[in-house]
Amino acid sequence: MEQELLIAKNEVQEKGFLDVDVDPTLDLFAEIERLKKEKNAIILAHLYQEPDIQDIADYIGDSLGLAQQAAKTDADMIVFAGVHFMAETAKILNPTKKVVIPDLKAGCSLSESCPPPLFKKFKEQHPDHVVISYINCSAGIKALTDVICTSSNAKAIVESFPPEQPIIFAPDKNLGGWINRTSGRNMLLWNGACMVHEIFSLEKITRLKTRHPNAKLISHPECEEPILRVSDFIGSTTQLLNYTKNSPNKEFIVATEAGILHQMVKQAPDKTFIPAPPDNSCACNDCPHMKRNTLEKVYLCMEYEQPEIIMDEELRVQAKKSLDRMLEISAKLGL
Ligand code: SF4
Repeated sequence: MEQELLIAKNEVQEKGFLDVDVDPTLDLFAEIERLKKEKNAIILAHLYQEPDIQDIADYIGDSLGLAQQAAKTDADMIVFAGVHFMAETAKILNPTKKVVIPDLKAGCSLSESCPPPLFKKFKEQHPDHVVISYINCSAGIKALTDVICTSSNAKAIVESFPPEQPIIFAPDKNLGGWINRTSGRNMLLWNGACMVHEIFSLEKITRLKTRHPNAKLISHPECEEPILRVSDFIGSTTQLLNYTKNSPNKEFIVATEAGILHQMVKQAPDKTFIPAPPDNSCACNDCPHMKRNTLEKVYLCMEYEQPEIIMDEELRVQAKKSLDRMLEISAKLGL
């Protein structure tokens, strides 16, 4: 085992996770609870994580909630069950704490669609523009950004600037386009998108709506415009969750990553949730990056405290400014 562990630790950067066998008889839920206490660790999980991970988490939420929790925790170790940019955000806000992630290779197509060197050139071409970036971006983009936003607060952050202020919005063109349409702004949009939210099929959704005439179509603003145009409600994952809980409606077609259905069913077991179908042969839409994390990998990263998020200090300090501004504006607006 010693030798196997040594090899696994040496390979963690290449593989993204600790590739060691876990005893199949181990009660992983009990072990993770033990490790939480022993190491004063907190598990923050995104709503797109698999149900077992959501059930063992101390806090489940969307990007805004997770960033707020990461900023205020007094735990010594943050276990971030989400994708890389989220764990990186937790590290930016908590330089003295250990931040571990179950799988380093849990990336994000949206974040990867905006490489910092290209974005830097784009920004230099528009020196009079303020840069607002969606939190789904790398630390390199955060460092080039004036204010970060999430889908929960994006519209409010944009509207906190006067209408005449030119703005670059990155990296999600769909979220940026939705804000432009609903706030009357004309922000310059970076051409990035999320692979999960871009492939919903309008045709299949229209057929579903015909079969379920009483169902409300609820969508994340990362979806493309044709889907948003026919949606009954548009919001961040937390806003979608609250909407389904509080709505008198009993049936919903949900156009976002299917992991969120776990909390929707838990909060309103008497209601029906139908995942919106993508434009392929699958019935629902899972993010392959989010689903790289498993309960075994959560246990392993807590037990051996690897893979760990390590950051260049200069980059961290620069990236933190745009996050601090978001947290300040959100607090001021009561979000
Ligand atoms: S659902 Fe889209 S935006 Fe979210 S982590 Fe996956 S690829 Fe990135």
